[in-house]
Amino acid sequence: MSRIATPYKRSPNNEGYDAIVIGSGIGGLAAAALLSRLAGQRVLVLERHYTAGGYTHTFRRPDYEWDVGVHYIGSVHPKTLLGKFLGVITDSTLEWADMGPVYDRIIIGDDSFDLVRGREALKDQLKGYFPNESAAIDAYFSLIREVNEASGGYFLEKALPDLLSRLLGPRLTRSFFELAQRTTREVLEELTDDQQLIAVLTGQWGDYGLPPAESSFAMHAMLVNHYIHGAVYPVGGSARIAESIVPVIEEGGGKVLVRAEVEEVVVEDGRAVGVQMADGVIIRAPVVISGAGLFNTYQKLLPQEVSRSHGLERTLQKVQPSAAHLCLYIGLKHTAEELGLEKTNLWIYPDENVERNLNRIEEDREAPLPLVYLSFPSAKDPDFSRRFPGRATIEAITVAPFQWFEKWEGTPWKKRGEDYEAFKEELSQRMLEALYEQVPQVRGKVDVYELSTPLTTQHFCAYERGEIYGLDHTPSRFRQRFLRPTTPVNGLYLTGQDIATCGVAGGLFGGVLAAAAVIQRSPTLLAKSASFLLGSAR
Ligand SMILES: Cc1cc2nc3c(=O)[nH]c(=O)nc-3n(C[C@H](O)[C@H](O)[C@H](O)COP(=O)(O)OP(=O)(O)OC[C@H]3O[C@@H](n4cnc5c(N)ncnc54)[C@H](O)[C@@H]3O)c2cc1C
Repeated sequence: MSRIATPYKRSPNNEGYDAIVIGSGIGGLAAAALLSRLAGQRVLVLERHYTAGGYTHTFRRPDYEWDVGVHYIGSVHPKTLLGKFLGVITDSTLEWADMGPVYDRIIIGDDSFDLVRGREALKDQLKGYFPNESAAIDAYFSLIREVNEASGGYFLEKALPDLLSRLLGPRLTRSFFELAQRTTREVLEELTDDQQLIAVLTGQWGDYGLPPAESSFAMHAMLVNHYIHGAVYPVGGSARIAESIVPVIEEGGGKVLVRAEVEEVVVEDGRAVGVQMADGVIIRAPVVISGAGLFNTYQKLLPQEVSRSHGLERTLQKVQPSAAHLCLYIGLKHTAEELGLEKTNLWIYPDENVERNLNRIEEDREAPLPLVYLSFPSAKDPDFSRRFPGRATIEAITVAPFQWFEKWEGTPWKKRGEDYEAFKEELSQRMLEALYEQVPQVRGKVDVYELSTPLTTQHFCAYERGEIYGLDHTPSRFRQRFLRPTTPVNGLYLTGQDIATCGVAGGLFGGVLAAAAVIQRSPTLLAKSASFLLGSAR
């Protein structure tokens, strides 16, 4: 049962909205809340899951609650752009808990490297670990800055109306593309031969889902910059994100409905005019915004003839779905304090050969896990012990090819068979061993654990290949002009991680772009938004 939104079945009258948003991920909620706040729009958000939030949702079992897709966020200070937008869409009701001076620890074999907050502090820390690489580290930080300064032009181009973007786009994006079109490894290997340094600098690659040899350096640089001044965690857990945005949508006369599966976008005379629900009901609105992901929107939600007439199948061949993952949700009958759990996330690698280790496990399931990521939400959340006294939680994540689970595709959740459960148990034990190696004091203290697989992600989050981050962040992704809020179908817009980048911040900026695209089509909405922005600037 959702704590923050109404079930579709209990909401008989859903007509008369200014816009419909498909999906209540941060991209969908941000677009809806911004249209509501800035332009006075009444927005209907439709979510197929039993709770709102998309990857920011949490789930509960007796005595425990876990986050599905949020472990930390950077750059939320009220003075940053992200902080400002978060303030508007949550009415500043969301509180953040600081993670302290060390947000990530990269563990490579027996060596351990702390990523500390503050650009200069991080530089000094890295130079302390790699004293002979001082020049390479300085050059690396200059490139990180360069990409981030250039990224403004890249996102601005997506926000511009078509004609302006065609005119100004090449100028706005030139310097960004110079570094975005290269892989992270290519760029780093020009700076240094030290493979351990490269492994440390790219140790957070799991945050965007592609190892250094495949990821765009721009994605790497934006992620590093995102956390460079430290990280925070939402007080009360990640469900608080949706809990604090939904009232803003409702105050504007909008509504967020759960268990509300959209079957199809209704297109009439080449224009999106509403949606058809899974129960056949048609809901009309002049604007439809999809936050369900690019593949879902173009392959499943748009009528086939519409997709075909715009060549969207061909378009989709230019991007790939991101990798799939396993998450082990662990509960312990002790507090984080009693167990001595730290707030710092751990990134554990067997050695520095990231790509080789990833390839190896694709061929041999028994090979060492190429990466295990550990997060300790109950240590990060100052409100956890009030809600779950005497308890602690840990989340362990690793990559897992979707193909490992293909044979159980189509089987019902919780009833996939004994062989599936046995495979899950084997994987869970391997992930628990990785945990015990790094945090030995929790051995023998685990009360419950539950593993999610790419099929769980497919079932609950509607990602067909269990994608962790929507589309892959390759160099070529960043060159795809169609990854923008407007679509070839009039009245249909896109929001979320696929049109910006992954991450809560990326998904939210997708919402900003979508709201901007809707607003700039109407002089009335533009005037209302300008008056809101001028008012709040005073
Ligand atoms: C394991 C994991 C860990 C992560 N850790 C972090 C982190 O620490 N920090 C961070 O910043 N980011 C993290 N992320 C990434 C971040 O959570 C996502 O990038 C972001 O939340 C995506 O938002 P979105 O709105 O684009 O998509 P989603 O959150 O996926 O929302 C899409 C929504 O659309 C709904 N939907 C789909 N089809 C339909 C339909 N037909 N009808 C109605 N609804 C539909 C889905 O149910 C879903 O709710 C993590 C992600 C994962 C998976």
